[in-house]
Amino acid sequence: MNISLSIIYLIATVSFIVGLKKLGNPTTAKNGNLIAAAGMGLAIAGTIFIHDFEVPPLIYILIGLAILTGSIIGGLMAFKVKMTKMPELVSLFNGFGGSSAALIGLVEFSRDAGDKMQATTIVSGIIIGAITFSGSMIAWGKLNGSLKSVVNIPYHNIVNNLFLIGVIAFAVFMVSTGVNDQVLVGALLASGLIYGILFVLPIGGADMPVVISLLNSLTGIAAAITGVLYSNMVMLIGGILVGSAGIILTIAMCKGMNRTLGAVIFGSFGGTDSASDEDRRLGSIKKTNPSDSAIMMNYASNVIIVPGYGLAVAQAQHVIHELEELLTKKGVDVKYAIHPVAGRMPGHMNVLLAESNVDYSLLVEMEDINSQFKNTDVVLVVGANDVVNPAAHNDPSSPIYGMPILDVENAKHIIVNKRTMNAGYAGIENELFYNDKTVMLFGDAKAALTSLVSELKNM
Ligand code: NDP
Repeated sequence: MNISLSIIYLIATVSFIVGLKKLGNPTTAKNGNLIAAAGMGLAIAGTIFIHDFEVPPLIYILIGLAILTGSIIGGLMAFKVKMTKMPELVSLFNGFGGSSAALIGLVEFSRDAGDKMQATTIVSGIIIGAITFSGSMIAWGKLNGSLKSVVNIPYHNIVNNLFLIGVIAFAVFMVSTGVNDQVLVGALLASGLIYGILFVLPIGGADMPVVISLLNSLTGIAAAITGVLYSNMVMLIGGILVGSAGIILTIAMCKGMNRTLGAVIFGSFGGTDSASDEDRRLGSIKKTNPSDSAIMMNYASNVIIVPGYGLAVAQAQHVIHELEELLTKKGVDVKYAIHPVAGRMPGHMNVLLAESNVDYSLLVEMEDINSQFKNTDVVLVVGANDVVNPAAHNDPSSPIYGMPILDVENAKHIIVNKRTMNAGYAGIENELFYNDKTVMLFGDAKAALTSLVSELKNM
């Protein structure tokens, strides 16, 4: 390889690693992203312009047009997307990554079918790329609500696992026989696409974060395989970084959801769509208002705020920070309890609260804060539901049974802010709302918190 291209790839690789490292902390994350993106830009430019063979000008024009179109569409989507819609965008981008790998495999197969090593790489790229593409599209549809949350396929575990074995057997047949037939390659692609759909369709309820993270990691693996195919070091390393970071995140998510990785890949995912009649017989609730809630917090010695998806929807991150500062000035000890899957993407609450400059030391992870609830005067739950649902401890029939939750029911008083009695993402009732210690502060989070702040200012 050309020496200057090798140096460019080395710089790009270092920038990916430095960027990834900086993503580990909210204060450096933005710079980390920019550094890695600059490295990627450099690698792309190097690949296009530095080579030992002649490239006709038309090819440059086509590549330029493709980059321009992709950049405009991607840039517009990224600028316009709301934080709450971020997981959908990630799913979509994952899908595009997978489809690129599958398409490259399709193009390359006719050239290299005879070479067993190359054919293995290509066939793996086609299958993984196809699964990532169709799986991500289904995840995207589920997240944006255009697809039903859970689609029940009878005996889906057996069907899925048999289908996957069939796809692998088909791939082994193609590589071992060296058959070079576009119809068979098309069939392999189609079987990968079907498996991706079968894989994600039955998943619902609170389990989507794990799937999104797993698909993200598959995108990286598909890119790494393409890197092997073209002996392109930077593509290989970039893919490995995405693949391994995705797997680490998947394992962290599994831990957060109390699932094993094996159960995620081959096992049964729970899920339900709506609260049952049984669920609704949980008793009666007590309503409160901003004035009474403010009094409760004003006289508390410590308050834990539990942010959830509703806080992000209402864009109430600034007003909650104002509330926290006000309470702190009044001598109340305030902390935020962060559940690993609160919101709609891993780290959603950390990102949201960092946006309003909440001091990072006030954000306490679930494992560290759970023991503190029993000594807490008031817990303020803002737009969170599943992550505080005691059914995860108490109801073996619940789809979220076994998932670690924030144990807010142990606090002395609980204020829950949400707009209605509707269920959260997992579609199940929450017995916390019927707890004797709980009062419901109904309303949009931003409006309710703004009223709370003005009540507190008058005290
Ligand atoms: P939930 O989705 O369980 O609940 C959010 C609650 O917010 C709803 O009950 C809703 O009630 C309320 N809400 C919505 N809008 C507003 C508003 N404007 N003001 C006040 N309240 C509002 O959220 P959690 O954060 O508790 O749990 C996250 C769920 O999402 C989990 O099931 C998790 O598994 C899943 N998930 C997480 C991902 C991740 O990576 N973090 C990715 C994908 C899914 P109401 O309509 O009555 O207001």
